[in-house]
Parts: sequence; structure tokens; C-alpha cells
Amino acid sequence: MKTCPQCGRSVDDYAQFCQGCGYNFASQAQYQQHYQQPAMNNDNAFDSCGPEGKSRGVAALLAILLGGLGIQYFYLGKATAGIISIVLSLVTCGLWSLVMLIQGIMMFCMTNAQFREKYVLSTSTLPLF
Ligand SMILES: [Zn+2]
Repeated sequence: MKTCPQCGRSVDDYAQFCQGCGYNFASQAQYQQHYQQPAMNNDNAFDSCGPEGKSRGVAALLAILLGGLGIQYFYLGKATAGIISIVLSLVTCGLWSLVMLIQGIMMFCMTNAQFREKYVLSTSTLPLF
């Protein structure tokens, strides 16, 4: 027997719906699966963050080491952002690479999912932080 989380009635284990209130146990299972999965995901920085195959760790290192040249943007497939970075580096006499250094550190501090949303899936021309 299992207990319905909505009305507290005891229900057969194989029942999909609660006989008392119609609560759908399948939706609960899906809910748990959906919300527990991210926590179980391997959040290794050097693993691919999604089907695009981009690694958060690689992008972060590129941003820290070669950020002034926008290499991390070229790596992420955002060539326009890379070119803008080169121009900004020239215009700011290299100060731009400090901004990219901060970006790289922030990349290291976020999760793979956050990274993917901000830098891989983002349609922004120049996704910064
Ligand atoms: Zn119920």
C-alpha cells in the first residue's frame, strides 16, 4: 500500500490514480524525476554541458588565458562576440581581458546547466555574465 499525498488515503501500490481524490501518482513520479535529475547530474566543469558538446571548463580557461582575443567566444561558436572582444581589447588597451578574466572565473562558479543557458543557448550577440 502507498499513501496518497493529497488526501492521505491508502491506495494499492499498482494504482495509477487515487480512488479518493483522483490524484495521479504517475505525475508525482515524473515530478520527482524532473526535479531530482539536475542534482544527480555530473556537474564536472570539463564534461560537455549539453548536446552541443561545449565544455564549461574549456570555455572558462580560454576566457581566463586568452579572453582578450575572444577565443572562448570562437570556441562557443559566437564569432561575432569574438571579433567584438578583439576590437574592445584594442580600444581599451587590453583592459578588456580583465572583464574576460572575471567572466572565466564566473564560468567556473556556475553549474553546467547555467553555463549552457547563458553562453551556449543564448541568442545574445555578446553574452557577458
Ligand atoms: Zn487521494
